[in-house]
Amino acid sequence: MLDLVIKGGTVIDGTGAAGFRADIGIVDDRIAVVAQGIDGPGAQEIDASGLCVTPGFIDPHTHSDLTLIVDPCAQSKIRQGVTTEIVGNCGFSGAPVLGDAHAQMSAEAAQYDLTMSWATVSEYLGKIRDTGAALNVVPLLGHNTVRGCVLGYDDVQPTAAQQAEMERLVAEAMEQGTRGLSTGLYYPPGYYAGTDEVVGLAAVTARYGGIYASHIRGECDTLLTAVAEAVEIGERADIVVEIAHLKVEGFSNWHLVEDLLRVLDSLQASGARVGCDQYPYRASSTWLAAMLPYWAQTGGSESIAQRVADPVMRATLREDWEQNQIEWQNRGGVRDWSEVLISACEERPDVLGKTIAEVADLEHRDPLDVFFDLIIISRGQASAVWFDQNEDIVQTLMRHPLVAVGSDGAALSPEGPLGRQRVHPRNYGTFPRVLGRYVREKRVLALEEAVRKMTSMTAERYSVEDRGVVREGAYADIVLFNAGAVADRSTFADPLQYPAGIPYVIVNGQVVVEQERHTGALPGRVL
Ligand SMILES: [Zn+2]
Repeated sequence: MLDLVIKGGTVIDGTGAAGFRADIGIVDDRIAVVAQGIDGPGAQEIDASGLCVTPGFIDPHTHSDLTLIVDPCAQSKIRQGVTTEIVGNCGFSGAPVLGDAHAQMSAEAAQYDLTMSWATVSEYLGKIRDTGAALNVVPLLGHNTVRGCVLGYDDVQPTAAQQAEMERLVAEAMEQGTRGLSTGLYYPPGYYAGTDEVVGLAAVTARYGGIYASHIRGECDTLLTAVAEAVEIGERADIVVEIAHLKVEGFSNWHLVEDLLRVLDSLQASGARVGCDQYPYRASSTWLAAMLPYWAQTGGSESIAQRVADPVMRATLREDWEQNQIEWQNRGGVRDWSEVLISACEERPDVLGKTIAEVADLEHRDPLDVFFDLIIISRGQASAVWFDQNEDIVQTLMRHPLVAVGSDGAALSPEGPLGRQRVHPRNYGTFPRVLGRYVREKRVLALEEAVRKMTSMTAERYSVEDRGVVREGAYADIVLFNAGAVADRSTFADPLQYPAGIPYVIVNGQVVVEQERHTGALPGRVL
């Protein structure tokens, strides 16, 4: 007997094939039958007439490592139709947390009133399993985290023994359940690593069949060399590569898109095992301190804050800013302080949603001083949004066949500690924004192609088996949405808004969103 029947919808199966009318019958956690006119006596039934029925979205690039433990309902993601998240991106993972990495991660956890109770990857994954989760989790291991464990956060190179220790930690993590290695070579301490160090760790990952996902070394003027480095790491380590949140940052670098497209086209033509993901916004977001020169970013967030607070160092930083503004612009990608919006600073909730320029105006202060003081007061934890991209380029990259949809966001909630930040809207709106704004309104993508970029494309790259497609035998991770109404409602001014037009989300055969309400079910698994 069927447990659940979804009747009368248009099935878009995730492969890119045209939609077709069919009912779906589910038994336990799998799709048992896809056919017209299924009758399921006794089964729970969902009327899908007028709705699209697609595989649950797989988000290849997320930062929910800690937030899923704070609130396993994963509201901001499940409401978008995301049923599987790949966590541990940009070089930062929830585990292992040894040595200096423990203090660094504890400071981050404290933002959410969370105390870490794990050290190893297996303890961390055990914590997620014990807590439960509304959606499935595919964990990656972060290179910055591993480097923090072994070398700390300074500008140093590993000895042979330290390189071997990092490689041992990678092997151990892969044995304990991570599915790949992520790097954040733009951020310290990953920035200090040479290519050979990363190749060594990626080669170990490859031996276990893992993927290499990278926030590359530069997305501004060094974009093309950074892409080339990612490709080189893939070739030398013989590993599948994912280039994270593909973009061209900085008004003075937008012309690089032509060369970038040539590179992507040739990668595709040669059959290279390289893919990309992208979020559909023309603004980026990260820690505010990432705008500082790299010499000022050593030692971890606490050290950065202390450095900025030191009067002599502060004067040196001001001098650097006055002399090297082009480099500062290149790190942030913006023309001036009016393009830097403050998104998180627990100690100054009054400045959230304002630009640095606006705060400077209100307080009759120099914007650089406002910037420094936010880093100090937040002990390096303040975050911001940079309006640094071009809408035409966003659309051009979205169309490229190598590019999947990924949020670069975390599973958050407007309620509780996860609702304290005025976050980038990508956390709440990425997937519905593609379906509403870029499929229905601007016709940048066909609906079937957009769904493929949200489902099977990522499932194949990350070797997530039997998900990302609607077919008999696959896991019953399913989204129902109204193609005529689906839309993101999260904005930069008012980001903590769930999307519209996604009434049902099913994970492993269990209904998690019903009539746009969370049922409280936590059927997600660590994959
Ligand atoms: Zn990143």
